[in-house]
Amino acid sequence: MASSKSDALANFPESLYEGTLDCVHCGLCLTHCPTYRVTGRESSSPRGRIYMMRGVAEGDLPFDQTIADELHLCLGCRACESACPSGVEYGSLLEAGRAAAAEAGLRPGVRHRLEGLALRHVLPAPRRLRAFTTFLDWAQRLKLDSWLTAVWPRGLRRAWSLLPPVPPRAARRPLPQFTPAEGPRRGCVALHEGCLMPELFGAVNRATVRVLSRNGYDVVVPQGQRCCGALLAHAGDLDSARSLARQNVKAFTSDASFDMVLSNSAGCGAALRETHHWLPEDGAALSSRVRDVCEWLDEVGLRAPLGHLPLRVAYDDPCHLVHAQQVAAAPRRLLEKIPGLELLQHRDAEACCGAAGTYGLLQPEMSAPILEAKIQSLAEVEPEVVATGNPGCLLQIRSGAEERDLPFRVLHPIELIDAAHHAAS
Ligand code: SF4
Ligand code: SF4
Repeated sequence: MASSKSDALANFPESLYEGTLDCVHCGLCLTHCPTYRVTGRESSSPRGRIYMMRGVAEGDLPFDQTIADELHLCLGCRACESACPSGVEYGSLLEAGRAAAAEAGLRPGVRHRLEGLALRHVLPAPRRLRAFTTFLDWAQRLKLDSWLTAVWPRGLRRAWSLLPPVPPRAARRPLPQFTPAEGPRRGCVALHEGCLMPELFGAVNRATVRVLSRNGYDVVVPQGQRCCGALLAHAGDLDSARSLARQNVKAFTSDASFDMVLSNSAGCGAALRETHHWLPEDGAALSSRVRDVCEWLDEVGLRAPLGHLPLRVAYDDPCHLVHAQQVAAAPRRLLEKIPGLELLQHRDAEACCGAAGTYGLLQPEMSAPILEAKIQSLAEVEPEVVATGNPGCLLQIRSGAEERDLPFRVLHPIELIDAAHHAAS
């Protein structure tokens, strides 16, 4: 079959091309797809995109801008994978299709070039990211926002509006490399701290370490760990994603002293868990050791006491936790254990919020109605707190709530568990 492939998809691996053949065109994924729900277009559906990738791979369709645009209009939420009875691995197909689009020069435009520069040269480079966060901090303190954003294009203004106030420097200091277990020791875990998390969600990382330690685990933060590479892969830069993955394999597998590698970011966790897709030779050594922090705590059980937390909480599923890692019940079970906490059920908790990495910045016209639907369903149950375990979702839902003057806070589930432990002490 390789000889019948078009040149444009010369980099589309044979195994993934074969993956397109798994689709039996049943259409059961269509109503689960946010972009299909907004546009009603077959070409914006999982089935349509798979059909187009297969057509290009077989040389029956030209790989043109229209097809590349449909691949980039996809959120990569993978709701279609959960709905698919044929086991189509849509996420891998999409990554390969986007990499081929980048290879074929089908990613023009200033926004995409800026995204590529930021993803390759800022996000995975802790010092540059720190310098950018410090600039942001000063711009926010000096209230330069309105002056700066007045001359920016709409996409950048949207990016700026998504950013939370930069936390104080103390909250951004590095995590200790080793935190001992409190009380009788149950084991040792390693934490992947992420690239954005230490800068914007240092409080979540610290809460994660406290909760693990209070529940009897030594926590190691291995040096040499890097950004997970998910955003690069989603943007079609698989080579850079693989290079980061190699460094993470080394950082997390050269030390056998910990039982598991934990992530508190759904997007990073999914990427680490699928390292073997990018590195078939040695990626499994890391993939097989990765768990989401809530999944792990649910599995081993909370040991530290939980105090009373009288809050109405809606838990919203991050796509890369529920669809890519199949973790849905564990965070809910943990929250339900907190005395006084009322767990609310809102419509479409598993539906994407429209954040999807950099999607909210690059596709604001599609992201906006998806966020609107999410905020509406949350507002209906009148929560005091929305809990969700992914930095992009935290930022997106916070900004949606602020724009509409809704009073709820948006927190990571681990912050609620940490607060409940604190309430008991
Ligand atoms: S990943 Fe999400 S947006 Fe993309 S085709 Fe699947 S359901 Fe639709
Ligand atoms: S549900 Fe699966 S097999 Fe059916 S159309 Fe969607 S991707 Fe294809």
